[in-house]
Amino acid sequence: MLRRSLLRMANDPRVRSRVESAPGTDELVSRFVAGRTAPEVVAVADDLTSKGLQVTFDRLGENATDEDEAAECTQGYLDLLALVAQEPWADQVDVSVKLSAVGLQLGRAGEQLAHDFTRRICEAAAGIGATVTVDMEDHTTTDATLAVVERLRQDFPSTGAVLQAYLRRTESDCRALATEESRVRLCKGAYSEPAGVALQSRHEIDLSYARCLRVLMEGPGHPMIATHDPRLVEIGVALARKLGRDPGSFEFQMLFGVRPIEQRRLVDIGHQCRVYLPYGTDWYGYFTRRVAEKPATVSLFARQLIGRR
Ligand SMILES: Cc1cc2nc3c(=O)[nH]c(=O)nc-3n(C[C@H](O)[C@H](O)[C@H](O)COP(=O)(O)OP(=O)(O)OC[C@H]3O[C@@H](n4cnc5c(N)ncnc54)[C@H](O)[C@@H]3O)c2cc1C
Repeated sequence: MLRRSLLRMANDPRVRSRVESAPGTDELVSRFVAGRTAPEVVAVADDLTSKGLQVTFDRLGENATDEDEAAECTQGYLDLLALVAQEPWADQVDVSVKLSAVGLQLGRAGEQLAHDFTRRICEAAAGIGATVTVDMEDHTTTDATLAVVERLRQDFPSTGAVLQAYLRRTESDCRALATEESRVRLCKGAYSEPAGVALQSRHEIDLSYARCLRVLMEGPGHPMIATHDPRLVEIGVALARKLGRDPGSFEFQMLFGVRPIEQRRLVDIGHQCRVYLPYGTDWYGYFTRRVAEKPATVSLFARQLIGRR
């Protein structure tokens, strides 16, 4: 309930301007955002990969308001990939793209535009042996996002999809996507969604996550277990053991700044763990979703809103 209220409140432009200019915001933001520029985030990635972790880069920004903005975002990814190409770990990299940042919301042509821009990112990623995963946004975009991923997969079969366990449709989407070569990231879901389309209680969402995870782990694809929830991580570990999955055939994923010790522990016990690295200056939407997920951060955030540290 608190999470939903906070997400709604964060959409108010007056709240946004207050948060963005509040003293101390920078410090809070840097807990979750890995860098302001591409060289900064590449340096963070270099450190993490030296510790056996893998990375996915997310250029912050969503809801491009015109084609120029979508093109600028695409160019940002191309510049990042050019930088990453010089690194010895380039062929293990993934980049995460939000279709709304590359034009999905721009009217009737939006889906085609988002497809075309993401395709350019896929081409550049494929050129250095890296992969692309298309992030999932709110439920009004699910069908269009999955349609774009399906098209991209025709030429770039490693393109990853994301499914959100809180959506009522997701178990069925997991069955459809649990196919050979298919990379699917399973997360709980980060948006404020209505009860008609999404489960509302934590307990129901966790049960759905466990069911969906089983479907993906039993399939022949490459599941990406994106959660910090200790019980779900343990279910992932146990399923992998029970099903005799090769450690290279699935991976755990966690966000930058969240449970870093657990990220290292998973690597130490022989699993792959990929860290999601958001970077850039357009951090507001991403940051408010992270704050809403953690009660302790909510109180710090609330103190920013009323102007106290
Ligand atoms: C790699 C990755 C990619 C993602 N991609 C998407 C996407 O494309 N679309 C989408 O809708 N959502 C995405 N998410 C977000 C996801 O949907 C959840 O909102 C988020 O991961 C929190 O859920 P949880 O599974 O960690 O469980 P929770 O029940 O929220 O958290 C479990 C425990 O993890 C810790 N924790 C969780 N979040 C935080 C935090 N912000 N700060 C500090 N501690 C925390 C706490 O200890 C908490 O008790 C992604 C998450 C990850 C890890």
